[in-house]
Amino acid sequence: MKAVVFHSLGKISVDEVQTPLSLDDSIIVKVKAAAICATDLRIFKGERSAKENVIMGHEFSGEVVNVGSNVKDFMVGDRVAVYPILADGKCDFCLKGFRNRCVNRKTLGIDVNGGFSEFFQPTPEMVKLGHIMKLPENVSFEEAALLEPISTVVNSLERLNVGLGDNILVIGAGPMGLLHVMLAKYMGVSNIIVSDYVEERLNVARELGANYTINPGQEDFILKVKELSKVFGGINKAILTVGVADVVGQLLDIIQPQGMISLFAGGGKTFISNIDLNKIHYKELVLTASQNATPEQFKKAIQLIASKRFNVGKLITHKFPLEDALNAFNLRSELKALKVLLLP
Ligand SMILES: [Zn+2]
Repeated sequence: MKAVVFHSLGKISVDEVQTPLSLDDSIIVKVKAAAICATDLRIFKGERSAKENVIMGHEFSGEVVNVGSNVKDFMVGDRVAVYPILADGKCDFCLKGFRNRCVNRKTLGIDVNGGFSEFFQPTPEMVKLGHIMKLPENVSFEEAALLEPISTVVNSLERLNVGLGDNILVIGAGPMGLLHVMLAKYMGVSNIIVSDYVEERLNVARELGANYTINPGQEDFILKVKELSKVFGGINKAILTVGVADVVGQLLDIIQPQGMISLFAGGGKTFISNIDLNKIHYKELVLTASQNATPEQFKKAIQLIASKRFNVGKLITHKFPLEDALNAFNLRSELKALKVLLLP
């Protein structure tokens, strides 16, 4: 079968690899749709490594085509999505429900084979842990390829206790920033302000529910936030969906006392900041972060899509056959696209 394989730093290719063979304790999934994530791009650009010869991809969905003799929970034809974290299920974090923080955590597409391939075979542990989740009939494979990113936004907003009365600032209007807009609106926040340098993306942000947008390339970011704050009383929660360290220092100045700043995005080697800690102290600010999601939040993401309350398909701008994966990575790198799908 064809698969996108990581070989060494900055070196990936679409290869012919062994198709998985039936295992008594696992299943085989025909991958129907897989999405490219910022992490995949970092690997593509050589900014981040992965295990040698691993099949990339951690955002995908598919149909069960083979069920091992010891597996009772699945049938051929089941439509599924994959919670892409391998956890031991027994460490303190797993027992508290935070399998995304498992001390023995492994991630699909980085440490173990992922879904940029024609077929995906979860490890038997993944099947036992319940990390292969069935999809309701009204959730399409393409929508389901976005479940993992949506679940991470659920985690982001839950960690910030986002809800009624909040005024939130989202830094970045890429796919993750836009998902923050969609979900924050759904969760009833008062005002959503989005900042990005790409005007087309800001247009989409407004369409999806952002009350105000800022383009720091065209106007002074801090002045604009201060001006807007006079209208609605200030920003109390800010989320970085792009790994730009300098923004954190600016956010310390513009956020309300007792506000929260969350690092949703990671960054490369330059993601280092020399911030004035007194600003955190004297305003009682919270600097926090979120990464990945719990299985429970992944389930919530399935329910959110099934509710049909918002159109996540709007974020899918391009689709490529699997063999054109490298072109898809290039396109996604140039910021011309939002979510780019590979259709094996
Ligand atoms: Zn664990």
